[in-house]
Amino acid sequence: MGEEDFRLAVRAFLAELTGGQAAEQWEHDRALPRSVWQALGENQLLGLGYPQRLGGSGVPLLHSVAFLSELGRTGFAGFRTAVAVHSYMANHYLGQYGSPFLQRQYLAPALAGRKVAALAITEPEAGSDLAALSTLAVPDGEDFLVTGVKSMVVNGSAADYFVLACRMSDTASDSSRSKSGGISLLVVDAALPGVTAAPQPTLGWHSAGTATVAFDGVRVAGSQVIGRAGAGFYQLLYGLQYERLAAAAMAVGGTEHCLQVLVDQLRRRSAHGRQLAQFQAVRHRVAALATEAVAARELVAHAARCFDSAKLPVAECSMAKLYATELASRAADACLQLHGSAGYLEDSIAARLLRDTRAATIAAGPTEVMYDLIASSVLD
Ligand SMILES: Cc1cc2nc3c(=O)[nH]c(=O)nc-3n(C[C@H](O)[C@H](O)[C@H](O)COP(=O)(O)OP(=O)(O)OC[C@H]3O[C@@H](n4cnc5c(N)ncnc54)[C@H](O)[C@@H]3O)c2cc1C
Repeated sequence: MGEEDFRLAVRAFLAELTGGQAAEQWEHDRALPRSVWQALGENQLLGLGYPQRLGGSGVPLLHSVAFLSELGRTGFAGFRTAVAVHSYMANHYLGQYGSPFLQRQYLAPALAGRKVAALAITEPEAGSDLAALSTLAVPDGEDFLVTGVKSMVVNGSAADYFVLACRMSDTASDSSRSKSGGISLLVVDAALPGVTAAPQPTLGWHSAGTATVAFDGVRVAGSQVIGRAGAGFYQLLYGLQYERLAAAAMAVGGTEHCLQVLVDQLRRRSAHGRQLAQFQAVRHRVAALATEAVAARELVAHAARCFDSAKLPVAECSMAKLYATELASRAADACLQLHGSAGYLEDSIAARLLRDTRAATIAAGPTEVMYDLIASSVLD
């Protein structure tokens, strides 16, 4: 199926999945039901970026960009993020570096919607600075004993397993504490003794089931290491570009949805004897946002195309993430402003959009870090 036909088919599918108040209910419950994962899996939407031999669809990256931006267009950022974390963030590492055992045990059921994945990198004292991670995996025979706390884990409350970033060493203070050394990725089953997840209430993204997850001396088999022990920093460096591209693509769809909500309101509401849509100050604001939405869409497509080149597109993904998520925030702010007091009501759509977009300029790397990465590529 061509990219545009695929986009329209996905749009119709997602409208049905989230329609009839279903997505509002997920927001209220602060969780996605398992049936959502099953429906996405059965419709081959969880494995778009994976080769067919791993249970994926093997379609080009631009199909994933279309899917992610359609997820954004649903207007439910908790739902869209939960799906993106599962398919483009956590499971990405299993697809790229996982052993056949891990791919069979975790990736295959995850792509089919039978298992839910979460990515556990951030800690209460270490977020954008990966070198500060302190969760430790200490070798014990053939196994590792894992101890640490992870924070802001999307799908954390519902996950069957965590792709966990940790330090792997005999002691907590050896030379592996250098920036790139010693970090490894492990798959940890949520049901293992010593793993506890506690919901972490967030301003937005309510249906994403965000949690803090504690690992208290959890015994993890050596076969659960993803790829080579100690290679986690480089695996993350690559994976974070996918994560940022996914965040940017979803933000593009989110902005388009937000503009639609805004346009509907501006046509519906009148003041001073005229439709709001007739006031020049309003029209110019909408025109500027609509222009930027097209620019953001093209920037994201450009970053996606750059994955075909030999060079890792760090600057391109950072630019796309920076621009698209900041634009989504500005669009949501305009949307609320132009709804007037009705937008400020806690359960209004405009309020939810503002709460939700606020997260995207922090998650997957804050705007300031995106500027640093772009500046490095331009200046250094
Ligand atoms: C809603 C949400 C969901 C998330 N989901 C996940 C998840 O599923 N799994 C996971 O592991 N993590 C997740 N995160 C964590 C996210 O990746 C981190 O929030 C992010 O990397 C920033 O880390 P931090 O919050 O610790 O902020 P810090 O690193 O402490 O930074 C705080 C602030 O300082 C500023 N800052 C940081 N670095 C610089 C710099 N170089 N120059 C200038 N200013 C700077 C920025 O404004 C930044 O927001 C999520 C975050 C949010 C908000």
